[in-house]
Amino acid sequence: MITTQILELDQKYIWHPYSSITHPIPVYPVERADGVIITLKDGRRLIDGMSSWWAALHGYNHPRLNQAAITQLNQMSHIMFGGFTHEPAAKLAQKLLEILPSELNKIFFADSGSVAVEVAMKMALQYAQASGAKTVKKRTKFATIRAGYHGDTWHAMSVCDPVTGMHGLFNASLPVQYFLPQPSVKFGETWREDAIQPLQDLFEQHADEIAALILEPIVQGAGGMYFYSPVYLQKARELCDRFGVLLIFDEIATGFGRTGKLFALEYAQVVPDIICLGKALTGGYLTLSATITTEKVATTICEGEAKCFMHGPTFMANPLACAIAYESINLLLEQDWQTNIKRIEQQLKEELAPARQFKSVAEVRVLGAIGVLEMRQAVDLASLQKLFVEHGIWVRPFGKLVYLMPPFIISNSELTQLTSALLAVLKQAYNE
Ligand SMILES: *Cc1c(COP(=O)(O)O)cnc(C)c1O
Repeated sequence: MITTQILELDQKYIWHPYSSITHPIPVYPVERADGVIITLKDGRRLIDGMSSWWAALHGYNHPRLNQAAITQLNQMSHIMFGGFTHEPAAKLAQKLLEILPSELNKIFFADSGSVAVEVAMKMALQYAQASGAKTVKKRTKFATIRAGYHGDTWHAMSVCDPVTGMHGLFNASLPVQYFLPQPSVKFGETWREDAIQPLQDLFEQHADEIAALILEPIVQGAGGMYFYSPVYLQKARELCDRFGVLLIFDEIATGFGRTGKLFALEYAQVVPDIICLGKALTGGYLTLSATITTEKVATTICEGEAKCFMHGPTFMANPLACAIAYESINLLLEQDWQTNIKRIEQQLKEELAPARQFKSVAEVRVLGAIGVLEMRQAVDLASLQKLFVEHGIWVRPFGKLVYLMPPFIISNSELTQLTSALLAVLKQAYNE
């Protein structure tokens, strides 16, 4: 198909994420992607700064991941998980148990991050019911912090930031949850006890209505790209224990090394009752997620009225995705990934620092393989995107946030190209 045909069909008939059908902003036809290079149909080559939204940590078209896919494809791409099990799921489970805190050992494989969050929230509700919450006030609500992002499905959306999550549109039918301020102590700052006060106040008044507190540990992703103190998580754990509220960590964005730890919870040495994984789980090849809980939560649920956990997606534990995820985790663990992330972090810190002088930039922050420029005003996505492409890089800002999270395999010189093109574009767009 020629490019104009693709674009015409796309424009007429296909939705893109958060897009308008009547006034779509331009999209760029991709021919292929290899390593950190995305090749457009017109031959232009872009250095990838996004890892396809946190996911493609080993880059694209990786021979080992391709081989894992092909081998599994020749056996079976999918088989229902009701009544069957298979080696790819068993091996992936074993691998996850190896790398997660030992308390987290009951795994539910679903098909996307949002569904993993729905599953976690359902687990918390079933747990509350099974542990007799009906006799007190019902624990049917959730608490979270502002500027979070947990996905676009119904209950996941209800715990996204009310403003950036566009709750206004759906207010009439969304469940009402408790929102706390963003943790006021940033990552790297000295802890101040008043930062946990709002959570303590909430629990003192309403804990008996709350099934769980859900957080993205350390790094808030799509809701604000904000990095906060690990001590907040330690204090939150203590309060959850004291008030009988479950703690859910959504590590869908932060998992698998992105923040400099394999899981962000390691910064705080805190173990949640439920963790959600997704995105980079398959190295960006296929959609797969995992919701993992403790023996205690799992057994309580199953000894409750329902006698089982009530969820079961059609593509649960998809063998193809599980086989690739297993290989992707091995690939990561075989390398000295900590040193590699430090290298990327150091270089991002040095090369993004000049943006601090830009009038248009409010803050520059870097953690692990994540570099963020928070602008003073929301950016004009279409015009900035066009400039990035013209400068040979792929960066997708949202709101006030222009950020980089390249595949871990990016070389020093490619990373320099990425950061220098980014700054060049901002200089051009804002007359810096
Ligand atoms: C992306 C994301 C989700 C949603 O995952 P999908 O696969 O897009 O449904 C949930 N939580 C966090 C923290 C995410 O970054």
